[in-house]
Amino acid sequence: MPFVQHGGRFCSWYTSDPLDQIPVTPASWGPPEQAEWPRYGECRSCREHGTVYEVPALAADVIDSAAAFTRWLREAISHHASRPGDPAFVGHRTEADVALMSWHGPIELIIFDGHGHAPSRVLNCRECRSASYPCRTLRMMAAPYRFDWLDHRTEWLP
Ligand SMILES: [Zn+2]
Ligand SMILES: [Zn+2]
Repeated sequence: MPFVQHGGRFCSWYTSDPLDQIPVTPASWGPPEQAEWPRYGECRSCREHGTVYEVPALAADVIDSAAAFTRWLREAISHHASRPGDPAFVGHRTEADVALMSWHGPIELIIFDGHGHAPSRVLNCRECRSASYPCRTLRMMAAPYRFDWLDHRTEWLP
């Protein structure tokens, strides 16, 4: 969804037409060699002039810590699966946890409150949507694995 910045206020503008995603109408379109999308013009939402706003990418530490959790959990599950024990139980447990991991995997979303605040990008749970990744369900599922797999972090506790 394209956004327009008017100083400290932000508009969103939506159309279902994928070829018509420019949220401002420029005063003139200029020659094609300047064919970056028009950056400045009349906002198609509120009709005031504004600048097209690109929502910043996710911070590197958000990506890194999500990746660290995913990696840790995958290793912990596969370590647990290889331990001797009740093979039927462990097999089903592993299958369930791998499925949970995938259902509650990370998804990048853009959050816009509609009250004019700047839109932001977040890494949330694909299933729980409003919860940041890893969500409580996933942290709860992961927690018992810390007893036989090192380097679990306290922030991953449910
Ligand atoms: Zn506007
Ligand atoms: Zn979730």
